[in-house]
Amino acid sequence: MNDQTSYPPSAPIIACHECGLIQRMRALRAGGSARCARCGAGLYRERRDSIDRALTLTVAALILFVLAHSFPFMSFRLEGREQDSTLLTGALELYRGGMWPLAILVFCAASLMPLLKLLGNLYVLLPLRLGRRPYGVARIFRLTEVIHPWAMMEVYLLGLIVAYVKLTALARIELGIAVYSFVALIVVMIAAEAALDPRKVWQRLGPQAAVPLPLAANAPLLSCHACHQIARPRALGRHGELACPRCGALLHRRKPNSLARTWALVLAAVILYIPANLLPVMTVTSFGKGEPDTILSGVKVLIQAGMWPVALLVFFASITVPVLKLIGLTFLLISVQRRSPWRPRDRTRLYRIIESVGRWSMVDIFMISILVALVKLDAIATIEPGAGAIAFAAVVIITMFAAMAFDPRLIWDRQETSHARQSGLRA
Ligand SMILES: [Zn+2]
Ligand SMILES: [Zn+2]
Repeated sequence: MNDQTSYPPSAPIIACHECGLIQRMRALRAGGSARCARCGAGLYRERRDSIDRALTLTVAALILFVLAHSFPFMSFRLEGREQDSTLLTGALELYRGGMWPLAILVFCAASLMPLLKLLGNLYVLLPLRLGRRPYGVARIFRLTEVIHPWAMMEVYLLGLIVAYVKLTALARIELGIAVYSFVALIVVMIAAEAALDPRKVWQRLGPQAAVPLPLAANAPLLSCHACHQIARPRALGRHGELACPRCGALLHRRKPNSLARTWALVLAAVILYIPANLLPVMTVTSFGKGEPDTILSGVKVLIQAGMWPVALLVFFASITVPVLKLIGLTFLLISVQRRSPWRPRDRTRLYRIIESVGRWSMVDIFMISILVALVKLDAIATIEPGAGAIAFAAVVIITMFAAMAFDPRLIWDRQETSHARQSGLRA
């Protein structure tokens, strides 16, 4: 499974996933983490009993997941009428209202993806703890890493807080057991995340390659984007592709067609941003009087009601973040295309922020799903989703894909004197 035999025994090496610099791995103290010597990206961590603790927390999270999905979530009381909801009601109501793209999105981000991530971790960690190697372990673990950015429970929680603040102005809201289980679930999942360094799991599945440094100029090396194994591009496949010796992922020197794909996604997001802001995202009807709200007018309503903190939060997440993301990505694309030598470290940091902050824009979408699920008291009060919500959700998802398509190592390629560059391999 691993490529160890081709390397002389020496310190293991790793390539920074953000700038591509190949560097020696050091032994760390418990609780320590290693950063890239050139761009400052987090490379790997040292956690005591990493697999044991992550496994325990994963099991606890699965129990909380079941609780959060089987008890009442919130109830809404107005004029003697009462409406209950569960965690899944939001997605169901969106589906019934013909908004199936949003229904699928909310269901996946708040329930399905977190569940798949937990089950994937259990499938990998439990056998490893028992000293076994389960079938297809590398592929499953790779998948759980891919799922990670799409499990958005903490963003959903923020949407829940906004919805709660909005509703308390309107009626009596009661929180159910599921809400508390949901909050505990998020805390436990974050703790599991912090306990586990994925590199630990990968090293159990096959040791990290070791090569004496400094590397010979004629030793081109590729880094696996999934498990961060370093491999020599020896036996290229029939179509010029090479698979990672440890996890089987296809190896590329750089993400293929990174600039073209990122440009296409950025442009698509810019176009969709127009209907996302012009069309109503929801309509609140109260005692027969209804008024459609766009994202911006929704913020205005919050300000008029004196809910400043929530108004600022929604404004920041729904308007500032997507715009800054699109401007930031455009700036990175142009600077790479012009082969700019300007502050590569700061541009890499900008990329890191863009990549991590994007999912938080989903707050408004989750808030709408919660409102739609709760406020359906026929003549008294109803909240209906609007077409703008679909366009807005598409903007958030497309900008997330755009950030993933961009390869930050391109920022450094001009400065780079590394060996991979001379390899003449196709990216
Ligand atoms: Zn780096
Ligand atoms: Zn790999």
